[in-house]
Amino acid sequence: MMNFKTTCPYCGVGCGIEITRTGSVLKLTGDKDSPVNQGMLCIKGQTLLETVGTDNMRLINPSLGSWNKAIKAIAKAFESTPKHQIALYLSGQMLMEDFYVAKQFSEAYGIDNIESNSRLCMYSTVEANKRAYGADIVPVSFDDIYQAQTIFIIGSNTADCHPIVFNHIKKSKAFVVCVDVYESTTAKKSDLFIQVEPGKDMDIINNLPHQFWFKEKKVLSVYSQGLTQSTDATDKVNALINAHIITGNINKPGCGVLSLTGQCNAMGGREIGIRTNDLTATEFFSNNQIKTLWVMATNPAHSMINYRQFETLIVSDFTRTLTTDDADIVLPACSWSEKIGHIKNSERRYLKQNAFLPPAGYSKPDWEIICLLAKELGLDGFDYQSADDIWQQMHIDESWQPRIKVKEELVDIKVTNRTDNDSINNVRLLTQWHSMSRTGKSKTLNKMTKVSNEVISMHHVTNSELFKNKTVELDKYSKQPCFKG
Ligand code: SF4
Repeated sequence: MMNFKTTCPYCGVGCGIEITRTGSVLKLTGDKDSPVNQGMLCIKGQTLLETVGTDNMRLINPSLGSWNKAIKAIAKAFESTPKHQIALYLSGQMLMEDFYVAKQFSEAYGIDNIESNSRLCMYSTVEANKRAYGADIVPVSFDDIYQAQTIFIIGSNTADCHPIVFNHIKKSKAFVVCVDVYESTTAKKSDLFIQVEPGKDMDIINNLPHQFWFKEKKVLSVYSQGLTQSTDATDKVNALINAHIITGNINKPGCGVLSLTGQCNAMGGREIGIRTNDLTATEFFSNNQIKTLWVMATNPAHSMINYRQFETLIVSDFTRTLTTDDADIVLPACSWSEKIGHIKNSERRYLKQNAFLPPAGYSKPDWEIICLLAKELGLDGFDYQSADDIWQQMHIDESWQPRIKVKEELVDIKVTNRTDNDSINNVRLLTQWHSMSRTGKSKTLNKMTKVSNEVISMHHVTNSELFKNKTVELDKYSKQPCFKG
């Protein structure tokens, strides 16, 4: 019998997992020693073993027949495209080591257009943190959930989207207030639900210092995309931080503002600085500058509403998706169960993913694929032998503390007209993950999946068709997109 510890690859909670192998039989349980989840797992984590291995969608060979041919063809496409017309589009599912090598490659080759799909959810928080604290600091942690007297949830269906965080919230003794535009699962399970009209959440935030459950209690505010996908997103996050500063609900145990990161390593991408010097991810698709696009571990044909065709589309992924079906060159990447490396969760902890299965077919980890291309293009410094080699070079200080002291200066906010009542917001289902490329492999999850009447399911629908006449607007500080129409 052998035991392996690893980390769930889905959301930014970062739950610890224990895998036991007896002969060829694998068993998966929550890691009781994990400080993040203490043995708890949501249904997506519990069913992860149903998604590993090789099914008929799994990519095991480069589409051009061999790695040699594929890498040579990509090098040719890169060399024949002006550098400002090349883009790398990465994903918060990639590991720290993958991000590090991707960034190193973009700098060595001179590619300004490098973005992560975290652009769609995280960047207004990054800008708001920089305005408020002077740097992208997350000052609180899950530890504060148990110290808070009030937990104020806004724009987050935590119960469905970050279920283990919500388990912690329900286990705490805190009074739970939920603000949302519809009665989500979280709203139903909260002590107080405040239903807000779309675009009017700033009024609620501005009024927080007058609410007794806010001004007279130790308050932890929790939010995600409901707050951050709008044209005033950065201002809204800053208004929330301002409310904490005004009431003294900051820099004390149980007090502060916690953004829940969507993907397992969205925080890691932020830290490494995966960020464009030219076009944003949305603009890769909404204007015609980019001719050669390399997509890694994400499925924009499903999720990017202005998805378009490119002269050369290269996609690395572990499984077939709408995007790999559209690609000129497809590269088979290792899956979660075959990868070694680190992620950084919503509360800034570095957590390890460990492989417990060999790479399927000829698949390779993302960092290794990038190194192959870098060497083909004649770049130096890409001779890594393992993920550990890369981690050593990154010199990361892994020490962790539950809270970080931040400065307490109000940010001036001038929001006048807000007309978000026609904006479209994304929700996540408890039993599925993003475009379902992994969770769709689980019979249990598929059987359990129900869509409530308040949401429209867009799974397996090509978004470019559905959103043909809609517009994308950007938050003015972060350029985070907001979809209207
Ligand atoms: S809460 Fe998130 S990290 Fe934890 S098991 Fe569920 S999907 Fe995985």
